[in-house]
Amino acid sequence: NRRIVLASRPHGAPTPQNFRLEQAPVPQPGAGEVLLRTVYLSLDPYMRGRMSDAPSYAAPVEIDAVMGAGTVSRVVASRHADFVEGDWVLGQCGWQDYSVSGGEGLVSLGPDVSHPSYVLGILGMPGFTAYMGLLDIGRPKAGETLVVAACTGPVGATVGQIAKMKSCRVIGVAGGPEKCRHAVDVLGFDACLDHKADDFAGQLAQACPDGIDIYYENVGGKVFDAVLPLLNTSARIPVCGLISAYNATSQAPGPDRLALLMRTVLTKRLTIRGFIIFEDYASHYDEFARDMKAWLDAGQIKYREDRVEGLENAPQAFIGLLQGKNFGKLVVRVGPD
Ligand code: NDP
Repeated sequence: NRRIVLASRPHGAPTPQNFRLEQAPVPQPGAGEVLLRTVYLSLDPYMRGRMSDAPSYAAPVEIDAVMGAGTVSRVVASRHADFVEGDWVLGQCGWQDYSVSGGEGLVSLGPDVSHPSYVLGILGMPGFTAYMGLLDIGRPKAGETLVVAACTGPVGATVGQIAKMKSCRVIGVAGGPEKCRHAVDVLGFDACLDHKADDFAGQLAQACPDGIDIYYENVGGKVFDAVLPLLNTSARIPVCGLISAYNATSQAPGPDRLALLMRTVLTKRLTIRGFIIFEDYASHYDEFARDMKAWLDAGQIKYREDRVEGLENAPQAFIGLLQGKNFGKLVVRVGPD
């Protein structure tokens, strides 16, 4: 039973030394418990926050504790009435091969699931995040212009595709030409810009001749700087994530732009609203699950996974996620189906 624990807290970008691979005995399920074997492990940007002990909306991972994560597992042995040996289950088993659970927070998916890992992405937390942030805060209307960055990841790609279904003009932002081509050719966005380009701000202004009505905020930093002057009156900004700053150890250099931001909020009557998906929207989950399944089945939503083989490769893959090395929803295949 291998498991990856938090060895030390990162200062800036995480390094392999912040993680440690350990061996532990396979736990035994007691009465009312199940033994689970992890098959897929989800790697997500929020985990950077859990590695840090700075105050946040969720408690940090303790030093020497197993890194937490959403997982899809098989039930190996069950002494719990609701779970059957061989079933797939969605849970929070963390970065390890085996775990024991009393069933809290476990969702049984049954014995046959066509794409078990999808519940970690498009049919799970990131898809739900895209759906609620866009529809409840972004409130897209036909003909409006939407900008979304990290636009080939599970949140951004889904936001842009739902906005296209709502007849918006969608401008994606991604790192590099290959991701940008994918956004236009596969996801159907109207245009996609590379945030690493020298004249990114100028390109964004050109791509948004009618301004920006919705900016779905995933990254912050220089993408937000380029967006701010283009925002239209009554623009909406669902603040979903600020990944460009997750590894920051100090304020970004440059002049203080708070006064400019607040003046723009006032004069453009902006709606800027942050949200934490399950804290704010848990009661809407069924509605999301129904719509998203129907859209996927109908081919209206495309979904790309970036699969990494082997638990031992999780730390490097996670480090890469914060540098844009993933291309699609990052999932680790920990063991055989
Ligand atoms: P992604 O799979 O899209 O991975 C993150 C991507 O962010 C990278 O691939 C990279 O894409 C981009 N990125 C990384 N660093 C930078 C940078 N400095 N500047 C610009 N882009 C950068 O992640 P998700 O789809 O899972 O998550 C997207 C966002 O949503 C994150 O901010 C995450 O924290 C947030 N989130 C928020 C939730 C909530 O409840 N509020 C729930 C789930 C996610 P590229 O190479 O294209 O730049």
